[in-house]
Amino acid sequence: MTEEQTTYWLPRATLERLIRMLVEDGYEVVGPTIDQSAIVYGPIESVADLPVGWTDRQAPGEYRLEPRDDDRIFGFVVGPHSWKKYLFPADELVASAARAGDTWQFTTPDVVPRNYAFLGVRACELAAIAVQDRVFLGGPYVDPLYRARRDAVLLIAVNCTQAAATCFCTSMNTGPRCTRGFDLALTELDEGFTVECGSDRGRDILRRLTADKVPAMADRDQLRAAESARAQAVAQITRRMDTDDLRQLLLGNLESPRWDSIAERCLSCTNCTMVCPTCFCSTVTEVEELTQVDRRRQWDSCFNIDFSRVNGNPSRNSIAGRYRQWLTHKLATWHDQFGTSGCVGCGRCITWCPPGIDLTEEVAELRTSARLRDSADHVSKAEDSAGAIQ
Ligand code: SF4
Ligand code: SF4
Repeated sequence: MTEEQTTYWLPRATLERLIRMLVEDGYEVVGPTIDQSAIVYGPIESVADLPVGWTDRQAPGEYRLEPRDDDRIFGFVVGPHSWKKYLFPADELVASAARAGDTWQFTTPDVVPRNYAFLGVRACELAAIAVQDRVFLGGPYVDPLYRARRDAVLLIAVNCTQAAATCFCTSMNTGPRCTRGFDLALTELDEGFTVECGSDRGRDILRRLTADKVPAMADRDQLRAAESARAQAVAQITRRMDTDDLRQLLLGNLESPRWDSIAERCLSCTNCTMVCPTCFCSTVTEVEELTQVDRRRQWDSCFNIDFSRVNGNPSRNSIAGRYRQWLTHKLATWHDQFGTSGCVGCGRCITWCPPGIDLTEEVAELRTSARLRDSADHVSKAEDSAGAIQ
């Protein structure tokens, strides 16, 4: 089927109706909203809750909201939040033990998922959800809490029509166009949205949104305008990560002096792992009362010294070791564990790193120093063999 046969058109005013209909269907709609001078994810009850007419400017260690000169609803990129805060909450109860007479009764919480509708999911975020699906649902041990939430969620994606200076999804093959994993995918234009359906659930919502149950197809001009809006995002992506032989590069340079140079700037603050949409490390804490003990799962970070504590001592007690662990896991050993990269190129860890440490730059530096070292080795071997011939 051609794009003309599969792409629909929704006038701008229909978005309000879509949100209302989702609420009536029992969904808790969450999406981008402005709070504390940033675009973060929160409850949405109407279009007025969305960041209409705002955009974000991002750079390493920098984030600013700025007014736009139009009233675009999704005219920004991504903020510090990711959807993992709903699918894998930062703090949740996983088990309890309560005193029952002379004994203890152990229970796990009932899994009653909230019916979330995520509005405004970007292509890199769909990719991040797919990565976390592998972590929590792949293999023999399925996380029942994640499973229940993931099954219930409705994903309404939005194609990026602009990029931040920190984006590099094109290097990671995760965007900026949404190609899979959504129920509906919108591309915003001045007068409305082109819409693609990715599931029966999405198709049903689209059908019910239109009075005669027959959604209008996007016309050629609308398709052309949507294509050029998406192309604008691609053209704006200037940051790159060379992923060729990346695993070999990182694991072959575990003793590089570059790790110490990063450690001079890294504060081990954990920001990069908190904002990362794929990071999944957690710890369990026992919260005790006289007659009850709750076991809670809370986000943790490989940048915390206690995270690697075994038998009373941390195994990664230097910042260089912790940064190395994070980067080599994200870009190298994640492939061994989950068959995919742990990075989707969203750029959050670059923007929200206080000293602006940029993983794309660090990879490029490691590559350059490995090349210089290889060519120096080559020259010295050539000199040795020339000496041997004389
Ligand atoms: S490592 Fe950085 S760029 Fe990659 S997915 Fe995580 S936050 Fe985004
Ligand atoms: S790389 Fe940046 S964000 Fe991550 S721990 Fe170090 S200083 Fe914090």
